[in-house]
Amino acid sequence: MTPTTILVILILLLAIGLGICLYQLNLEKHYYQYKTDKSDHLENQLKEEKDKNKQTLERLNKIAYINPISKIGNLDYFISETTKQFLDTEGTEFTLITYNISNMGSVNKLFGPTEGDRAVKFTADKLRSLGQRQRFLYAHLYSNLFGILVKSKEPDYLIGIARSITESLTDFNDSFALEPSFGIYEITRLTVPVTEMINCAMLAQNMNKNKKVCNYSFYTEELDKQFKENKEMSREMEEAMEQHKFLMYLQPMVDLRTFQIVAAEALVRWDHPEKGILSPYAFLPLFEGTSVVEKLDYYMWEECCKTIRRWIDNKIKPTPITMNISPLHFESTKFIQKLNELTSHYLVDKQLLILELPERGIASGSSGIISVINSLHDNGYTLSIDGFGSMYCPLNLLTDLPIDSIKLDRSFLNRHLTSENGMTILRYLIAMAKEINLEVQAEGIETEEQANLLTEIGTDIVQGYFFSKPIDLREFDMLNKSMVNKVYRGDEYYPTFEDLEKDLDLIDYLLKQNT
Ligand code: C2E
Ligand code: MG
Repeated sequence: MTPTTILVILILLLAIGLGICLYQLNLEKHYYQYKTDKSDHLENQLKEEKDKNKQTLERLNKIAYINPISKIGNLDYFISETTKQFLDTEGTEFTLITYNISNMGSVNKLFGPTEGDRAVKFTADKLRSLGQRQRFLYAHLYSNLFGILVKSKEPDYLIGIARSITESLTDFNDSFALEPSFGIYEITRLTVPVTEMINCAMLAQNMNKNKKVCNYSFYTEELDKQFKENKEMSREMEEAMEQHKFLMYLQPMVDLRTFQIVAAEALVRWDHPEKGILSPYAFLPLFEGTSVVEKLDYYMWEECCKTIRRWIDNKIKPTPITMNISPLHFESTKFIQKLNELTSHYLVDKQLLILELPERGIASGSSGIISVINSLHDNGYTLSIDGFGSMYCPLNLLTDLPIDSIKLDRSFLNRHLTSENGMTILRYLIAMAKEINLEVQAEGIETEEQANLLTEIGTDIVQGYFFSKPIDLREFDMLNKSMVNKVYRGDEYYPTFEDLEKDLDLIDYLLKQNT
């Protein structure tokens, strides 16, 4: 090998080495660039994700804290903001005011549900502008109830707020003023739960008997005593529910054509350790609209489902049970979910349950109530208007709502069954109901004469002391047993738990065969 060749080889090797070095350097540069780009990209992605999450959270918070109709803060917002103010401030110079529109029922009846919603928005708008001007906390708590927290206990100032709100609602429309009714609760202890403070203000609100003369009341010592007694009774009731001290009585509902029991109304009784068996009139009115009644309703609905399941499992033909639904449930569709849970847990056919919706709860015909009733119907429940005639329920509601029957109110019947004119009204009312395919029921039938009159004018089903008082389950079973037609007909089949277990065994067996 000549020196020149060696030199050439050396130069070549040097060039290759240099090339590799440069290539590696380039690679590293690219790699570094790639890594930087990638991490920038990741960082951007992370930031975008964070922003999105923040926006979603803000949106969710907004939904959770804003009343969807009035677009101002709701009950949760009020509780949270009130608690914050209590934490941020020393002293207890606070007053909580609640108010509702006492003539809201008339708005819905006279102008329809859309106008009812407009009245709520109108009230909220007026509250917002006053609240922003006077810098107090305000909210639309629920339904037709509004709440205010002010940092003052000065009676003139508090009454001034009530007057300003009243004044602002006078021009709802040319011919109609909205009439608010206020409860004023001066806060003495900040540790009391805000919901309890709201209850106290509402208790005061209920004291406004003649709202035209004075539409506000302060929470007084006397009310405080009543509040404490109610609280004690509510505690007692909750305890009694746990100990199963509430009994389900059944009152037979009789078909006037066949004189057979075709259904039974479930009515609650409290087996009180000192006072004996208490009628619902002794305790229900005290708790109307509260969570105690909500719980009691759930309890009774479960009793109804259990009873039907027990009948089926004992091969007794199940009697459809009519259940009372308190108006407080009409605020939302939550109770429909509860009903569905119960019917599926106890495998009860929804056709065996009739839901009695009190006329006083639905007469306003607000859009919320209409949608709840439609939803009940869509879920497969049979619906009846209870105490029909006790108020002035607009007759168009009967055609607008998916109702199956009306139950005429006892006092309405007593007023009309005794005079010629009254009988004519009843006759036409029943004929009209039949025309639109509604079954007509009547309650409170105490004499044979009443039963005959009702048969004559076309009533289908009746219930009353003439046939039977509400009786306990054992008595009802005995009464039912003594009547004919209590065994299944060939075309009826209600699967018992035993049948279902057998079915499960069969399914299990078939599955095993196939594997
Ligand atoms: P309602 O739904 O109108 O029930 C009919 C009421 O009339 C029952 O009173 C029944 O005992 C009574 N009654 C039946 N036949 C006659 C009669 O011939 N003459 C007379 N004078 N009265 C008769 P009760 O059991 O005292 O119930 C009162 C109200 O309490 C019920 O009125 C209903 O609104 C409510 N209620 C009862 N049980 C429940 C329940 O479980 N849940 C709810 N939410 N409310 C219930
Ligand atoms: Mg009823």
